Amino acid sequence: MPELTGRLVDTGRPVRLRIEDGVIAEIAATTSDIDLWLAPGLVDLQVNGYAGHDLNTDDIDAGVVGDLVRSLWAAGVTTVCPTIVTGTEQRITRALRAVAEARAADPLVHHSIPCVHVEGPHIADADGPRGAHDIAHLRPPDVAEFHRWQDAGAGLVGIVTLAPERPGALEYIAEISRAGVVAAIGHTAAEPGDVAAAVDAGARLSTHLGNGAHLNMRRHPNYIWEQLAHDRLAASFIADGHHLAASVLTVMVRAKGVERSILISDTTELAGMPPGRYETPVGGPVELSADGRLALAGSQLLAGAARPLLDCVAWTARHTEIGLRAAVRMATANPARLLGIPRGELRVGAAGDVVAFRVDSATGRLDVDTTVVRGVVVHRGGA
Ligand SMILES: [Zn+2]
Repeated sequence: MPELTGRLVDTGRPVRLRIEDGVIAEIAATTSDIDLWLAPGLVDLQVNGYAGHDLNTDDIDAGVVGDLVRSLWAAGVTTVCPTIVTGTEQRITRALRAVAEARAADPLVHHSIPCVHVEGPHIADADGPRGAHDIAHLRPPDVAEFHRWQDAGAGLVGIVTLAPERPGALEYIAEISRAGVVAAIGHTAAEPGDVAAAVDAGARLSTHLGNGAHLNMRRHPNYIWEQLAHDRLAASFIADGHHLAASVLTVMVRAKGVERSILISDTTELAGMPPGRYETPVGGPVELSADGRLALAGSQLLAGAARPLLDCVAWTARHTEIGLRAAVRMATANPARLLGIPRGELRVGAAGDVVAFRVDSATGRLDVDTTVVRGVVVHRGGA
């Protein structure tokens, strides 16, 4: 049974942590002087791909899903919601089946994927709110299609991001909420009243608030203020240093409160790859820079996100007043609570999902040393 020694991010206290039967069995104070930090394994609610593994291709299969999850373990992520974006119903159900097969094939992959996030296809068609989603496959919310997704993926869909101004959205939100699925507002051009109605119908999350939005909009009221004001909405943020300015993230987290704030990576398959120019099937040529900025080649327009969640935690800790402790909560306990799963905290009885990392004091980088999933060491740094 693995034992880890390090300082708890929450308290700074050095401890020896023992895991038994997949859960944390003991956390004991120790006097050893150690430069490792211990945090719960990260929980990422939005991952489209990573390290060359892409969930949104037409030929997605279980092997890609398993490889994706394993490559995320090396980045300190122990819980992930594979994210399937706008596409034909056939591609969405194929991806859901692939995730279900990958879970059935490996108990640790099963543990690491509590559910799937479907982002789209019921989103706004306007430029800006639509983001990079394929306009040809947008369609209004359809409860019957949702049930076909659940049939295809053994009930795996746990989050659906949609635009609440779409006809039928409120009934859809109410229906999936009754089924225990998180209805999330995103890629929207909603009027303030649409946001309020969505919250009343059961919506619980704003997806990457501040992105997937118009470049220019009425200063107030608008759908960003409206979502910030609703206490029943948690909000996810892409804190990669490119999608939100530090001041914007700071103010949004203050408006939501730390406990309702969630960090996500929203990474594409190019995350974790060397810097350079890449050809993408949908977006054409893109440029990945050393600081994780992914832009359309020769343009200022972002072409997706490319920094894993631990980098987002590091960026938040270094560039805002939020601090490392709160930033870690926003990437662990808070998303776990939204999903209703007993993870994201280091306490006796919680899931044995742990990441041990070092802080590079010069750059603020967080480097994964060891990752443990349900008591099994799945990654050791340098090895
Ligand atoms: Zn998005």
